[in-house]
Amino acid sequence: MKDAGKEKFLITGGYGFIGSSLIRILLKNGEKVGNIDKLTYSANINSLEDLTTEENYVFFNNDICDQSSLHKIIKDFSPTKIIHLAAETHVDRSIDNPSNFIHSNIVGSYNVLNSSNQYWSSLNDDQKNNFRLLLVSTDEVYGSLSAKEELFTEESSYEPNSPYSASKAASDLLGRAWIKTYELPVIITNTTNNFGPWQFPEKLIPLTISKCLNNKNIPIYGNGEQIRDWIFVDDHAEGILSAIREGELGEKYNISSKNEQKNIDVVNDICSILDKIHPNKEGSYNRLIEFVKDRPGHDYRYALSNDKIKSLGWRSNTDWLEGLEITVKWYLRNREFLDQYSAERLGRSK
Ligand code: NAD
Repeated sequence: MKDAGKEKFLITGGYGFIGSSLIRILLKNGEKVGNIDKLTYSANINSLEDLTTEENYVFFNNDICDQSSLHKIIKDFSPTKIIHLAAETHVDRSIDNPSNFIHSNIVGSYNVLNSSNQYWSSLNDDQKNNFRLLLVSTDEVYGSLSAKEELFTEESSYEPNSPYSASKAASDLLGRAWIKTYELPVIITNTTNNFGPWQFPEKLIPLTISKCLNNKNIPIYGNGEQIRDWIFVDDHAEGILSAIREGELGEKYNISSKNEQKNIDVVNDICSILDKIHPNKEGSYNRLIEFVKDRPGHDYRYALSNDKIKSLGWRSNTDWLEGLEITVKWYLRNREFLDQYSAERLGRSK
């Protein structure tokens, strides 16, 4: 990799699902990484496996809502790149208790922008030119598509429908304001539903696997016809790295594999893979599917174009069923990760 090891990446939320994929890739590429994570319920400190050493990695167990400690960490670590992922991420939880989402996703992002700006202002011209802050966001900021509408592009208007998506939209708009007002070199990426190893088991795919393995009903909201656009987590992480290395300052990039799937089809695909590699003598796992009352404000369809991120040379490498089988096999090998949460009341889909 070009210039590997010359950059210092500071990641927020690096013990989360996507942050840990990103850090694993960076460490394997020989980069130096700092990770700020408050270690909420969705963090997993085993997720960096045995890749970290004293030379290549430092962990800061901090809350991004604490401005003074964040400021000190950024100043002392002196990153060349900051990638901001720390957030509250589960839509159902945002409906039950929006307050955490307002704090971590809006105040937290404001703090990241503010501290980054103070730090960036103190750099010399070469360091300033090399510095980037990338904000990781979601397709949900664009609202919901009908079946026949064109895919969302980077120019689509923001129409968030849940407390989660509204808090992420607010974070994106703060990013835009820091670009326009302070000329801070910010890039924003919006991505679709991620899947892969290490995802907290309240999200649709690990939840479905957990229900199958524990012989419990698999709850599906409404009629299961909702459509989500799915991307394998490592492909998303590579997209973030393309955007921060090759992207234009101040631009937004959608990161999508253009892989639209109905929720019911996602669940049926998981059942088919498990039927093949881990059959149950009572019959196909799809006998466990149970349709339950839809959640309020449930968006029908999210789907993103990917022409702009592809213009940077990025490509999605992982086929849907191939990635899903990798994921199912990983959870089968890591039953304890899945089982420790299976007794709780868990959410049903993003
Ligand atoms: P996650 O819930 O798995 O991880 C979030 C991480 O952030 C956790 O390690 C948590 O401890 C940390 N965190 C939360 N609040 C914090 C705070 N105040 N201070 C410090 N650390 C804090 O989430 P994820 O799925 O990895 O998502 C990462 C980012 O990607 C989020 O910004 C999310 O909005 C975005 N995103 C996720 C998806 C998806 O499908 N998972 C899709 C689109 C966008």
